[in-house]
Amino acid sequence: MRTQVAIIGAGPAGMLLSHLLAAEGVESVVVETRTEDYVASRIRAGILEQSSVDLLHAAGLGERLAREGDQHRGIHLQWPEERHHLDFVDLTGRSVWVYGQTEVQKDLVAARTAGGQEVHYGVSGTALHDLESDSPSVTFTSADGAPTRVTASVVVGCDGSFGPSRASVPDTIRQTWEKVYPYSWLGILADVAPSTDELIYAWHPDGFAMHSMRSETVSRLYLQVPNGTDLDDWSDDRIWSSLATRLGHGQDGWTLTPGPITERSVLPMRSFVQTPMRHGRMFLAGDAAHIVPPTGAKGLNLAVADVGLLAPALVDLVRNDDSRLADAYSDTALRRVWRCTHFSWWMTTMLHTSGDEFDQQLQLSQLRWVATSEAGATGLAENYAGLPIGF
Ligand SMILES: Cc1cc2nc3c(=O)[nH]c(=O)nc-3n(C[C@H](O)[C@H](O)[C@H](O)COP(=O)(O)OP(=O)(O)OC[C@H]3O[C@@H](n4cnc5c(N)ncnc54)[C@H](O)[C@@H]3O)c2cc1C
Repeated sequence: MRTQVAIIGAGPAGMLLSHLLAAEGVESVVVETRTEDYVASRIRAGILEQSSVDLLHAAGLGERLAREGDQHRGIHLQWPEERHHLDFVDLTGRSVWVYGQTEVQKDLVAARTAGGQEVHYGVSGTALHDLESDSPSVTFTSADGAPTRVTASVVVGCDGSFGPSRASVPDTIRQTWEKVYPYSWLGILADVAPSTDELIYAWHPDGFAMHSMRSETVSRLYLQVPNGTDLDDWSDDRIWSSLATRLGHGQDGWTLTPGPITERSVLPMRSFVQTPMRHGRMFLAGDAAHIVPPTGAKGLNLAVADVGLLAPALVDLVRNDDSRLADAYSDTALRRVWRCTHFSWWMTTMLHTSGDEFDQQLQLSQLRWVATSEAGATGLAENYAGLPIGF
């Protein structure tokens, strides 16, 4: 099979890229190991920054987001006895939207299905070939067992943290950076109206907690837990009482309303970057090139930003034989990647307790400064609501 762009991975990065390319008349084929339903139902990110929202609107994908998404002006930042609201709109003129990754994925799949996009779900044995030539290819075994080769002008690895693309860059060229944090998140989805209007990020001596939401009737909450935590050790009662303690139930009359837990999981936290984000005719986008801990709500947004830069670069490359944007892609994308990697690390280390009493005092001092100084609050707001794509 021949196409212009072979895309590995049908997550948000891969599907958005195929959509943006199609809008410019560039053809692509997408290959994906999982089923369409599996990819669509993965419970992951929930916050879209301003640039992601703008890009989705510009790409004609914003109709349901505008109708069903929930625009938030900022977040609540708290520690015992104190809760402060940071208003991103007042501070930076930018806001964020609560709209689940599951919904973004549904919108992408609907748009690509309507556009007749070729997506091969349920493939196995994906491999990349001849990346330094002008006709790289991807081979795989299709869902019905047929060995298949897609030859293209360009291959794009949008295959997340476990796909083969990043490892296809020779060891002599690729460089990686990794930080594994000594804690994880226990995340739940609950069928209960959120007890807060906007997200609460809470520092507590017992560990970080966060109150997020997915809709008017579904809450998403997280607790810092040690690495290796067994979900069986966390009964519903233990989860809700820990959340109540850490989120300040009773503080200034605020109450946390518990409800039936419908999903729970433990998420380890790490930062990872691989450079360069291009090798020959293969480009990396999204989690295939970088992972951030979720505290800064940046993973999905970085995937959108990468693709927002990559799509016009590939259009110029395959349609006009102009490689200037493609040549600049890795350096341009990495500027934002490192900014978001720093911000995610900074939010994580400011809010999660390590047991070190000196560190706790520094964290509280930093939180007080961020919450009460306009300069401190603006720095957080600018990074959280997101810098413009191409920053
Ligand atoms: C529990 C959790 C919570 C998160 N919370 C947030 C949040 O609050 N905010 C935020 O911004 N981000 C969050 N993230 C991160 C966010 O979900 C990811 O950054 C985002 O999914 C990246 O999109 P992607 O398309 O690059 O990668 P993925 O969504 O991982 O998609 C990659 C796709 O490639 C496919 N694939 C893998 N190997 C192969 C292969 N060999 N052949 C073909 N296909 C393959 C995979 O099946 C997958 O569908 C969270 C992630 C998790 C896990």
